Amino acid sequence: MTTADLLRSEYGWKISGTFNETHLAVLLMAAQDLTAFAEAQAPGSGQSWMRRWLSPVHFHLGGLPQWVTTRLAGHEMSVVFPRLDIWLNANFLTLPNPRHHIVHELAHVLDNHLSTRALPAAIFGGGPADRLVREMGGTPRGLRFSNGACGIPPVNQWAVAAGGGYGNHASAEYFAEALAWSVYYPLNLPTPTIVNWLKANVFLAVR
Ligand SMILES: [Zn+2]
Repeated sequence: MTTADLLRSEYGWKISGTFNETHLAVLLMAAQDLTAFAEAQAPGSGQSWMRRWLSPVHFHLGGLPQWVTTRLAGHEMSVVFPRLDIWLNANFLTLPNPRHHIVHELAHVLDNHLSTRALPAAIFGGGPADRLVREMGGTPRGLRFSNGACGIPPVNQWAVAAGGGYGNHASAEYFAEALAWSVYYPLNLPTPTIVNWLKANVFLAVR
């Protein structure tokens, strides 16, 4: 079985574009890391949680949404658009932690999937990212990918050590970084209560 087949059969993920074996291996390891984390939060249901909330996901390498986002941002970006499609920066393997990057993007899909609204939560709000930011003392408004720190008190903001403090850039990014750092290096979280919040609101509240 190829890695792409495995991603499809185990996780319900679809791959489009010129992914090589290294790209696919990173996707698979990120999936396994997140499954293990989900399993630790809700023993016995890690795999079913992944299938319920992170399937289907469609991965692309580059593509028009990624090109447009990169042009607007002025640097290489990955983007989730509209809800369940991840358009990866074709150079994502050169990032400091490519698996962290994949889990970060999956968090945006999760934000969309866990929202009850029709419009994508990672853009317009209404998902768990808004709730986490309120829990941290902020008030999410406006476009969720560019709305700043949302008034979150400094004590709950991200340190520079956590990926340059990227999670302070917007409410959707706060949530995506919260999940990714919880999986890969919880010491970088602004507060360890974030893991408890994710457990109660993302992994246990929904099955
Ligand atoms: Zn993001």
